[in-house]
Amino acid sequence: MKVLKFGGTSVGSATNIKKVKEIVLSQNDDVIVVVSALGGITDKILTAANNAATGTSDFHTELTEIRQRHHDTMHELFNGNEPIREVVEKLLDELEQILTGITLVGELTAKTLDRIAGIGERMSSQIIAAFIGAERKDSSLLIQTDSNFGKASVDFQVTIKNIKEEFAGFKGIAVAPGFISKNSKGEFTTLGRGGSDFTAAIIAAALDVEVLEIWTDVNGFMTADPRVIRKAYTIPELTYSEAMELSHFGAKVIYPPTILPVYQKGIPILIKNTFEPENPGTRIVKDVRNGFDRPIKGISSISGITLLTMQGIGMVGVTGISMRLFTALAKVNVNVILISQASSENSISVAIEEKMLSKAEQAICEEFEKEIASGQVNKIDIEKEVSVVAIVGENMKKTTGVAGKLFSTIGRNGVNIIAIAQGASELNISWVVKNEELRKTLNVVHESFFLSEFMELNIFLMGIGTVGGNLLQQLKQQQEKLLKEKHLRVKLTGVANSKKMLFEREGIDISEFRDKLAQAEKTSSLQGFVDEMKDMNIYNSVFVDCTASDNVASVYKEILNANIAIVTANKVAASSDYENYAELKRIAKRKGVKFLFETNVGAGLPIINTLNDLVNSGDRILKIEAVLSGTLNYIFNTISEDIPLSKTILMAKEEGYSEPDPRIDLSGVDVARKILILARESGYRIEMEDISIKRFVPDTLFDGTLDEFWEGVPALDAAFEAERKKLVAENKKWRFVARFENGKAEAGLEVVDASHPFYDLEGSNNLVMYTTERYHEFPMLIKGYGAGASVTAAGVFADLIKVSNI
Ligand code: ADP
Ligand code: ASP
Ligand code: MG
Repeated sequence: MKVLKFGGTSVGSATNIKKVKEIVLSQNDDVIVVVSALGGITDKILTAANNAATGTSDFHTELTEIRQRHHDTMHELFNGNEPIREVVEKLLDELEQILTGITLVGELTAKTLDRIAGIGERMSSQIIAAFIGAERKDSSLLIQTDSNFGKASVDFQVTIKNIKEEFAGFKGIAVAPGFISKNSKGEFTTLGRGGSDFTAAIIAAALDVEVLEIWTDVNGFMTADPRVIRKAYTIPELTYSEAMELSHFGAKVIYPPTILPVYQKGIPILIKNTFEPENPGTRIVKDVRNGFDRPIKGISSISGITLLTMQGIGMVGVTGISMRLFTALAKVNVNVILISQASSENSISVAIEEKMLSKAEQAICEEFEKEIASGQVNKIDIEKEVSVVAIVGENMKKTTGVAGKLFSTIGRNGVNIIAIAQGASELNISWVVKNEELRKTLNVVHESFFLSEFMELNIFLMGIGTVGGNLLQQLKQQQEKLLKEKHLRVKLTGVANSKKMLFEREGIDISEFRDKLAQAEKTSSLQGFVDEMKDMNIYNSVFVDCTASDNVASVYKEILNANIAIVTANKVAASSDYENYAELKRIAKRKGVKFLFETNVGAGLPIINTLNDLVNSGDRILKIEAVLSGTLNYIFNTISEDIPLSKTILMAKEEGYSEPDPRIDLSGVDVARKILILARESGYRIEMEDISIKRFVPDTLFDGTLDEFWEGVPALDAAFEAERKKLVAENKKWRFVARFENGKAEAGLEVVDASHPFYDLEGSNNLVMYTTERYHEFPMLIKGYGAGASVTAAGVFADLIKVSNI
């Protein structure tokens, strides 16, 4: 035997009731069907009753709609031949009479409300039983409760006996209304809003059936409310406790009391979709079988909450305060959704439903009247319009750091957390946020590593020249591997060149990005790009700057302030005014996002990283000596009898080593920027003007245009060749060396002999030598390719991986 419960939407129309019939008839078993009222009817009855009582408006509007819905449904189901029309009509008349009565007395008691609240179920069960051709059973005669109208408590002993007797030897299909019950005096009561689930569970438990199936309008229990989180997906299995916690914190898919009776009997619950019956839905059982072993199973939330905080120095160490508080609230039927107590014990916060506020406030003030008067409790703080959010999962117990990750994720996204509570069972963590932050909070947590199969990194790339282009190629090649091996989904979410910009939340296909960008509607604008990134407001976003532009660097502050990380190959920001550099680092730190620029020095070589590691581990940098210009090193390694200086400069440009304007390299400015950055990362406050650069090319060549420069360079060839010959004879070489020592930095062309570490430095390689307190006698050397688009792109890529923290 099975119990199947169909909710309001499942029985909301004739079309849907036909689906229900198909599902019921396809069960190869005896079935008890529990039904809700036609979707929306209970709400209408309650509105009509309130209108009648307050006289604010006529209840007939609602009543007419209720009548019409039932007439239409019956008409369509029974083709005009309506066998139960009379029964339904009588119930509608009963509803009208009571509403009229309420209007006359101008008062609505909970008892009267319960007389009519369940009329929707009484009608729907008649219609559906007749349509399926099943026997109708009256739940209100079976389920006996106390007289707590509106949300009555079940007398299980009597109820179970009634149900057992009623269904003894039962075979076939029965249909019963959900939600309704009666007290021992035979007066109608109800089991609370959403209570049809509970009716079904009570019957299932009493008869010890094989399974309780809750049929609704979604594919089972999902990781979050699918109406709020588009990407929510079905959780295949949940334990009873997890389902209980999720529903307690607002997952409406199942009414929380439902779980207890079936849990005690070990009856599995299946949540299924009436509109997609083939979907397996969710199984709720004692122990989950398969490897759905993430620490967090789902997120849920409740809005319309008020947080009450009781504070007072006099509360510290006094026993019984919390007990008195909860007892006072319980006495007036105020349900406490969350409790949070500061470890100092001088404050206790409780989250309650907003509509209970005045009752709760009064109860607390009465209970603590003496303490308030004497100042032991100095105030009751009320924070309205907040929501409670909870994450739930049994595996949280086995996983450390969940709370840390959770709250840093939320904080990084700029959401303020008002209160936090963690159940001692470690099954859930719940917290309070302002209503207006709820959607973002849910999205952030859902988007983050808790629920997604994969962690996502959203890249917003500016500049698709050699470095940016190479980066995308590398990314394309690695995307699958990162996804498979690191569970990291790197998406190109936004991209811009100087003409157009393009954004796609789901990720732009990298193999098509050039065509797509060319056809994009949006014309490129720096501020437009920044605004779009901010508006998209996606968790784990990173702005990648592959330009060399001053303008782009000027928006870093705004980007970091929006909690978006930055990875940049552009040296402008880190080598700008010290104050600006320091401010960017400060913002990044405060916001908890990364600002990485490893490729600013030595392309992909781990030069800045190593420096940071040394400094962070307590070492002190005493001296830095370095060959930092791949271009200049290439030039001085390539220059020969056959290849004069002017030609090497041209070759360096063609090989992609030099900056677009090679004078930036030749002048030493590029090297100066790099040593400046290294000095700053070592902890020194230093400006560009503090660096002395000795040029090896006359100033006149830098003053004119680029064309004039190219024309003038060959004039230097002869002198350089003469000098070169001399160096060859002495077995010496030129190196353009940057040096930082005693707070001073300089750069210039030097001559080194064969014993110097800089002597063997092939091609465009870079070499950095750190002399530190620890690496004193033998300095630390880092050496390798220091220029070129592909190694630079690889360095940017490495920074990106660092942003994702895997
Ligand atoms: P019924 O009328 O069938 O009882 P309800 O409206 O009471 O249906 O519950 C189903 C609704 O619960 C879904 O439409 C969905 O919007 C909401 N819901 C909230 N949280 C969740 C969740 N975690 N998983 C699935 N549905 C959820
Ligand atoms: N019809 C009732 C309600 O809307 C009970 C239910 O549908 O579960 O609350
Ligand atoms: Mg429901």
